[in-house]
Amino acid sequence: MRSYNIDQDGYYGEFGGAYVPEVLYKCTQELRKAYVGIIESPDFQAEYRSLLRDYVGRPSPLYEAKRLGEKYGAHILLKREDLNHTGAHKINNALGQALLARRMGKTRIIAETGAGQHGVATATACALLDMPCRVYMGKTDIARQQPNVERMKMLGAEVYPVSSGNMTLKDAVNEAIRDWCCHPADTFYVMGSAVGPHPYPDLVARMQSVISEEIKWQLKEKVGRDYPDYLMACVGGGSNAIGTFYHYLDEMRTHLVLAEAGGMGYETPQTAATIHSGSVGILHGSRILVLQNKDGQILEPYSISAGLDYPGVGPAHCNLAKTHRAEVFSINDDEALRAAYEMTRLEGIIPALESAHILAALPKMKFQPDDIVVLTVSGRGDKDMTTYLKHVNEF
Ligand SMILES: *Cc1c(COP(=O)(O)O)cnc(C)c1O
Repeated sequence: MRSYNIDQDGYYGEFGGAYVPEVLYKCTQELRKAYVGIIESPDFQAEYRSLLRDYVGRPSPLYEAKRLGEKYGAHILLKREDLNHTGAHKINNALGQALLARRMGKTRIIAETGAGQHGVATATACALLDMPCRVYMGKTDIARQQPNVERMKMLGAEVYPVSSGNMTLKDAVNEAIRDWCCHPADTFYVMGSAVGPHPYPDLVARMQSVISEEIKWQLKEKVGRDYPDYLMACVGGGSNAIGTFYHYLDEMRTHLVLAEAGGMGYETPQTAATIHSGSVGILHGSRILVLQNKDGQILEPYSISAGLDYPGVGPAHCNLAKTHRAEVFSINDDEALRAAYEMTRLEGIIPALESAHILAALPKMKFQPDDIVVLTVSGRGDKDMTTYLKHVNEF
């Protein structure tokens, strides 16, 4: 049977792989040889599981949103990653990779960040584990994400300003990769999403797979069967989505639904809808769909949501889309804003702007009244209040 999970060469169908310069080859090989054995060891699992429970606050609740369900004519259950420590799913991954780094004998952590969410999660894990941490961040992003910059500094991380390119996320990743090349012996690069050269997409997917692992037993408990009819998640690089789908990739009774950021519309230049508007290319060491011009120059993405503002998308998701295993919606800024206000007023939950993109896919779905729908709320909206308040008169 065909599987939608990774193959032994690091590919999902035609996507993925490790297209790295020779200096990085050794680093990725070292990680590739070490990660599965360490992650699956009882010792790692004991420490990781105990921190997920007592520090992150897992399991995150699976909450039936009755009013939302009434409105859209199905049983809608929200997977509440917004209730995790630091406010999103990113801590599952950052903490896991930091623990892996320590077991690999690495003493220094680097990471990249765009909106600052992954930077904060990594800085948090490093404070906890007492490891030095440098976070690469574009100067443009530093200027527009001040609260997260202050958080990282308070947590003891060094925020390293990047002034190449457009001074945003893509440039921060480039700079982090460069650092990794120069310090292969002592440094571990904590990748923020299910992107980058193999084995990162698989490593991140495994760390986030706790989401679907919990959905399985929580659903069994709540509705008597362990699979839903629909699983829904927003996609930037793809970590919360692959975590939500992981244990259901080959469960064909479950429909998979993704929402990417359309920005002003996927047919305009102001978009981050990589699956709708991208073409096959190599970005950050992986063969994926990329927003690029005809000369292969990467285009600057745009979305109202900083966390979805990436010019690529993970190889697993490229394959899910290409094979039609997943249905993919492009959600524009105004639709996401409307959905965020709706969720807040129906359920008393202010979602992150990223999560609002998948909520905005609900009116586009054709549910049956008995359908069981699990939708991941990847994060909370506190960080987005300035943006929400700008639009308060429209809703
Ligand atoms: C970073 C972020 C995302 C997008 O990243 P993925 O890797 O696609 O999950 C989504 N939601 C929130 C709350 C985020 O912070």
